[in-house]
Amino acid sequence: MFHRRLSYAKTIGNLVNQGQNSQAIALFRLVRENGFEVTEFLLSAILRACGRVSALKQGKQLHCMAIKHGFNHDTILMTSLLDLYCKCNEIKDARKVFDEMPQRDVIANNCMISGLCWSRLTLEAIGLFNNMSKRDVGSWNSLISGLAQNSEGRAGLALFEEMRVEGAEVDVLTMVSVVSICADLAALRNGREVHCLVMKYGFELYLPVGNAVVDMYAKCGCMENAWLCFRSMPMKNVVSWTALIAGYGKQGQGVEALKAFDAMEIGGVWPNSITFLGALYACSHAGLVQEGWRIFNMMVSKYSIAPTMEHYTCMVDLLARSGCFNEAYSFIKRMPIKPDPKLLTAFLSSCYSYKKLELGKIVGKKLIESEPEEAGAYMLLSNFYGIVGDLASVAKVRRLMLDRGIRKEKASTWIEINKTVHSFQSGDRSHPLSEDMYSYLQHLFRKLKINGYVPNTSMVMQNVDEQTKEVIVLGHSEKLAIAFGLISTPPGTRILIVKNLRMCTDCHVVTGLISKIEGREIVARDSSRFHHFKDGLCSCGNHW
Ligand code: ZN
Ligand code: ZN
Repeated sequence: MFHRRLSYAKTIGNLVNQGQNSQAIALFRLVRENGFEVTEFLLSAILRACGRVSALKQGKQLHCMAIKHGFNHDTILMTSLLDLYCKCNEIKDARKVFDEMPQRDVIANNCMISGLCWSRLTLEAIGLFNNMSKRDVGSWNSLISGLAQNSEGRAGLALFEEMRVEGAEVDVLTMVSVVSICADLAALRNGREVHCLVMKYGFELYLPVGNAVVDMYAKCGCMENAWLCFRSMPMKNVVSWTALIAGYGKQGQGVEALKAFDAMEIGGVWPNSITFLGALYACSHAGLVQEGWRIFNMMVSKYSIAPTMEHYTCMVDLLARSGCFNEAYSFIKRMPIKPDPKLLTAFLSSCYSYKKLELGKIVGKKLIESEPEEAGAYMLLSNFYGIVGDLASVAKVRRLMLDRGIRKEKASTWIEINKTVHSFQSGDRSHPLSEDMYSYLQHLFRKLKINGYVPNTSMVMQNVDEQTKEVIVLGHSEKLAIAFGLISTPPGTRILIVKNLRMCTDCHVVTGLISKIEGREIVARDSSRFHHFKDGLCSCGNHW
């Protein structure tokens, strides 16, 4: 009897160590039904398994069991329980366990830091981190990646700087987190520096680090570097290829993206749903209709991957962008799922640019019925009815937007200068150099207007006079970031900005003009793609 109990405990422990969590939990239940006693070791192992599969209800039962058996003084067991509550986002219970622990070692503290970040309580996580008498690399990693998850990448970078000043040990996870932050922020100088560190420590041999570096260069608009890093990776998986393919796609380099896709297939790597999305996206932004069909059909028939709404949206976007409206429309009608607002918005956007007014009216009606939640859809509808001359519908759309409580997401644009990321919102005057930025822009506007530029204020939804609208447009976040970039860098330096939403039409026109007047290459990454401005022209061909 005693031996059998031991062997069960061992088997369960092994299952947990191998990551076979559900099997471990099932076996534990069986063992309990047969009346075997639990031990601290067994309970701790099973709690770890429950944490990994977010089995909260079972976790709570185990918690009661632990108290009943008086195991609640066991640090390892209570840390497993803490981890479970954190992973299930039960921060109240997590905190209770944490506070009642007789001793809290580094692991328990790290666990709590992650849990607080998952529950978006980053300030508390920072407080806990600062109060720790002893930290290990896991403590830094928990906080850095936790900040990144909460879109506080800038704070994450600052923390990494601190980590280096303190001479703390870094590991592979630190590198993946920091490189990913640089990718999201397009913080190229930071990213380059971290890449040097990666090579210094020999971390580039680790697949996740290599993948993160490729992705970082791609998201900073440096495809040559992304390619060089990709090429030098000793091992590549589908994630590496997807980063490369999606990177080319967002730059509008469709042919390169497809070359990479084909090379991946020849190399025997199986593409997944995300790889196909990247490839379709690449076709759509390069107008490669036939190739798009080839990729789409290959996904369905060769790889048996069921298309999601995003794949369908990419196809509709590709067809409509290329002017194949009938094909796009019949594709939508054949779709086995009901088109969502994003798909319809993409379609209407092309109807708008191609002035396909009759079809646009049909799609516009469907779009309103689908109750979109994004302000962009309403702005597009309102602009569309504007050019059709249907002022009653313009008013209706604006009223609908108000009634449905849809608000424009706050636009923000950021730029990295001297390793610091500066972020701007529309009409922002909080930056120390904002006087200089505004006077640069006002001067520029005067100069452009003399040469025939007319500010496009159609995206301003507020009910104000034209002059006020122009002031609003002048203070758009992307213009502020560019102005800041221009006055803070030597002539000729390439400027890279990132916007959280799509770039607006007026900012697009003005950025093109700035690139010509100032002789600067300006790269703008928006929520959809990259715009490379040079000599007054943009790589997107004015359609995005
Ligand atoms: Zn703008
Ligand atoms: Zn563009």
